[in-house]
Amino acid sequence: MAYKALYREYRSRSFDEIVGQRAIVETLRNSIKNNRIAHAYLFCGPRGTGKTSIAKIFAKAVNCTNFHEEPCNECDNCREITQGTHPDVIEMDAASHTSVDNIREIIEKVKYAPLRAKYKVYIIDEVHMLSAGAFNALLKTLEEPPSHVIFILATTDPMKIPSTIISRCQRYDFGRISDADIFEHLKEVCEKEGINADDTALKMIARLSAGGMRDALSILDQCISFAGKDISLEDVSSIYGLVSLDEMTELLAYIKTADSAKLFKKVASYWPKGIDVKRLTSDLMNVCKDAAVYSRLKDVNLLTRLTKDAADKIVSMYTTKELVQLVDLFLDTMAKYKVSESASSYFEIAMLKAIDLASKTETPAVSVSPEPVLTVKAEEVKPEPKPARTHAANSMNTPDEIRAALHNRFGVPESELEVEPIKAEETKPDVSRETLEDPADITPDAEIMLDILVRANKSEKAKDTSKFARINEYRDDERYGRYAGMLANAKLLASADDSLIITVQTKGIANQINSASDDEGISEFAEELLGADKYLIALTRDESSDLIALFRRRSEEGTLPAKGAVSLPERAKTEKDAAEAEEMPKPQTPTDRLDAMFGKGNYDLRNM
Ligand SMILES: [Zn+2]
Repeated sequence: MAYKALYREYRSRSFDEIVGQRAIVETLRNSIKNNRIAHAYLFCGPRGTGKTSIAKIFAKAVNCTNFHEEPCNECDNCREITQGTHPDVIEMDAASHTSVDNIREIIEKVKYAPLRAKYKVYIIDEVHMLSAGAFNALLKTLEEPPSHVIFILATTDPMKIPSTIISRCQRYDFGRISDADIFEHLKEVCEKEGINADDTALKMIARLSAGGMRDALSILDQCISFAGKDISLEDVSSIYGLVSLDEMTELLAYIKTADSAKLFKKVASYWPKGIDVKRLTSDLMNVCKDAAVYSRLKDVNLLTRLTKDAADKIVSMYTTKELVQLVDLFLDTMAKYKVSESASSYFEIAMLKAIDLASKTETPAVSVSPEPVLTVKAEEVKPEPKPARTHAANSMNTPDEIRAALHNRFGVPESELEVEPIKAEETKPDVSRETLEDPADITPDAEIMLDILVRANKSEKAKDTSKFARINEYRDDERYGRYAGMLANAKLLASADDSLIITVQTKGIANQINSASDDEGISEFAEELLGADKYLIALTRDESSDLIALFRRRSEEGTLPAKGAVSLPERAKTEKDAAEAEEMPKPQTPTDRLDAMFGKGNYDLRNM
């Protein structure tokens, strides 16, 4: 039996099952009870907030032969509308039917009486995508609608709808669903599905879904795909590369006390875990924003990210002014990620700036919390190597400067630092620069990657993650240093017994890893690092999201490869290995290319 996505399985079938949107539901219900049904409705609001679900329930309610507060969901009309086979309820996705002909085709039939139901209901989703001509054709019908017709137009972008259309509709604005409502619903779904999920994990999913129930259920689905029936906060965090609120508060405490050793140790521990540095920065910014507002107004209701305890803790450390400065700093940092080669390095620089800022604004600066490492005398500081280029805007932009500053000023062991230039320096051999010019984009075979995901398991991933944490030990290794550099910011997506998929920073690095033959040493390094000969596939972040979306779609369709049905291709062998290779199975020819399968927009790509 094909697997059905949770958001389809748990789509609301009655008004009472709708999560949130109470005012809208009650108004619509009353309009049916009092027989005051309008001929055109406009449902506006963010995705996943229930617009099309309510439209379908409304279509059932007006046509149900046993309507009493709710559609019965049992009469012929109800059943056929649920299945999408009722001849009088026409659903159209305007995103793929934008032309005037599409609308004319519908409108031609508007004048005919309904075949079986009382009302013909036209549900047009993403109506803002219609062309100008199509809107005009629609407008003519809306001006003089036959009495048996109801239009329900749904949109995420009402600004793009002509005012002439809007003025002829009864408009309903759907708000984002509250985290608490989403949490409750997720809890119910988990109970019904026999999933043991921690409350903290579900709360995190609710937060990640930003008020969209469909997203929340998709995220839950994804967590189930990767973690199985027991879902913890760690699972959600590791899939989405998140840092917990407690840890963010801890980071802010280290910043305030200028405890750089602890701060950088903590930060360094994030990269092997595949923490999403951009999300971390944005989370920290929101945490500081929340705390700044709270420190001014002391209103718990205004907290969006923080608990009261966490807010009190942060406000006891920082002044409002400092918090606002940190917000600025994190905003600035996020903008810099677009031009920086290594986001994690830039995050570390931001941490340095934050320490600087937090200690500067305090009066008196250092004496409150004497930090021996901060008061290093000038003569103790080793002369720093002269930078290849000088940066007028920021005096700490070269890797040597940053490393020296971290080491000398703050006592962070150099071995724990992974510092790369913000922009590639000509003086530093840089793998990603070398390979960025590589014209051949290598995209691994989708079937092979799906097979790895099917066979991947959590314990293997945990094992590999802890081994990846040792990668910095190889940074100065003559033989493997280069590969350690390439893989330093890699994030583990999935591990199977004989293979793993990682996410790397640039397409150049991914190409280099995916095209490497055995004698290039990368697989040798993987073996050295992981203690097992594993087939390594590297993807960019976008490709990883695409792969997960594909995995989800194929699992919904029930068309995932059976375990072990696909064999891994061989790397190009060295001569030494040629003899052994003869017994090995022939490499499988790639079937579908990822690019060909991912017609952009064909399905939902979550930004993880
Ligand atoms: Zn019914």
